[in-house]
Amino acid sequence: MIQNIVILGGGSAGLLAALTLKARLPRLGIRVVYSKEIGIIGVGEGSTGDLPNHLHGYLGIDPADFHQRARPTWKLGVHFEWGSRPSFDYTFTKTFIGTTPGLAQHLGFHAWENCDSLDANSALMHEKKAFLRLPNGAPLIRRNIAYHFENAHFVAALEHYATILGIRFTEGKVRHVERGPEGVSSLELDSGEKLTADLFIDSSGFRSELLGGALEEPFKSFDDSLFCDRAIAGGWERTGEPVLPYTIAETMKAGWAWQIEHEQHINRGYVFSSAFLSDTDAEAEFRNKNRKVKQTRIVNFRTGRYRRTWVKNVVALGNSAGFVEPLEATALFVICNSARALAIALADCECDPQPTLRDVYNCTVTKMWEEIRDFLAVHYRFNSRLDTPFWKFCREKTALHGAERIVNFYQENGPSTAFAGELLTPETSIFQLEGFYALLLGQRVPHKRVRASNDEESRILTALRSTNTNEAKRGFSVEESLVLVRGPHWKWNPDFYK
Ligand SMILES: Cc1cc2nc3c(=O)[nH]c(=O)nc-3n(C[C@H](O)[C@H](O)[C@H](O)COP(=O)(O)OP(=O)(O)OC[C@H]3O[C@@H](n4cnc5c(N)ncnc54)[C@H](O)[C@@H]3O)c2cc1C
Repeated sequence: MIQNIVILGGGSAGLLAALTLKARLPRLGIRVVYSKEIGIIGVGEGSTGDLPNHLHGYLGIDPADFHQRARPTWKLGVHFEWGSRPSFDYTFTKTFIGTTPGLAQHLGFHAWENCDSLDANSALMHEKKAFLRLPNGAPLIRRNIAYHFENAHFVAALEHYATILGIRFTEGKVRHVERGPEGVSSLELDSGEKLTADLFIDSSGFRSELLGGALEEPFKSFDDSLFCDRAIAGGWERTGEPVLPYTIAETMKAGWAWQIEHEQHINRGYVFSSAFLSDTDAEAEFRNKNRKVKQTRIVNFRTGRYRRTWVKNVVALGNSAGFVEPLEATALFVICNSARALAIALADCECDPQPTLRDVYNCTVTKMWEEIRDFLAVHYRFNSRLDTPFWKFCREKTALHGAERIVNFYQENGPSTAFAGELLTPETSIFQLEGFYALLLGQRVPHKRVRASNDEESRILTALRSTNTNEAKRGFSVEESLVLVRGPHWKWNPDFYK
């Protein structure tokens, strides 16, 4: 019976794990161990649309308080400078599998020439606005948006909520992990203190002290699909640039660069492959494109996941369980979903987990990682923007794995939603067919159903775009919206995230 849990790691993974378990199982004793000397990863983060729902819905964190503490800005999607179009926008809404009156086919069939502004969120992104304006003058905040925030602010906010729930914190560096037949039997801190628990959560970041270290679980690399292994991170304080309601992903010579929007700070980074570019050349290319960048730091990483993330009495969550580059900002998604799955599993087995439960948990987590790898592979395989050795290599060598079937289907049938459930399991798919089609159409991957719209279809599409664009132009910028939601008159509807 699990009664006491020790979580190794006080970064976003450890704290989200603590909060998620405590929300479902309030009687569990939870202690978080972290080291000030080692610190947290501290790389500024973007999320997927799942995160606000997890924070304010599942965990019940008050959005007003969260906005004060974590200072998030909103992210409607990713603006890709990628493929043969000048750019395209990937939103978290159903754009390409959506319909509009008068058209027999989904909008994706009409997106070959122009894929912009086919729904409200893509029009908002195009106009650099965060929210539509309601007839009463208030912003229309929907649930299909994500956050950008600085990792340190986010972690400080989570720490505050964890303390309120009675989660205990111990500062100290783990210097020795004692193994036993149950997996890990204790953690010994620098101070000499020994910590025991019924279950250990390994959220020790890339160090993976318990799962990869003590238990020596094998690591399964994604290096036949994802070839980048380094990131240069930098940024600058805003000098009048508007706060954009999206993340930018820009194609670079040997990888891609992100731009994440914080209120006062612009966060830039270059993810690249060290097999194709030296650190010095990457830094030069990055600085050349971003003259305002101040200090930079290099983060080395390997992409992949541990074979199992729940082994004996250890569950790894966060970078200690696996990592892929932040092209779709999926790390927090995996953390929240895995932590929720774990909390539900423990609740259902009354904290007495059996091997079959662990197996099914491991399969669930594996599926998440593999769909993310497959989705990112589609980004690499079809990006025709540059003819550098890196991108030629990607177009030739990127293994699509599970995405192969979707791509083949799309190439013959266009962005059809017939048999969608056969291509992906809609209940569990992260990106859904919408996501795959958004990337395939955005990158202009040819399909056999490409045709010009007839006059009537063109008229309908022009009217749709112009309505969306006009509404978006009247919308709220990020700056205006931040002032409103932090102001004294703003009230969050308590049922909004239920
Ligand atoms: C370049 C880059 C960009 C990223 N961008 C995004 C993004 O946009 N969106 C996204 O979702 N994710 C992003 N990520 C992933 C991001 O790192 C994770 O989402 C997240 O912050 C989880 O970190 P963590 O808690 O697993 O690890 P960390 O923040 O590294 O925390 C590890 C914790 O373990 C503790 N610890 C480790 N070893 C010991 C020890 N021996 N004794 C005591 N304590 C110990 C540390 O002190 C720390 O508290 C990015 C990652 C990188 C590298």
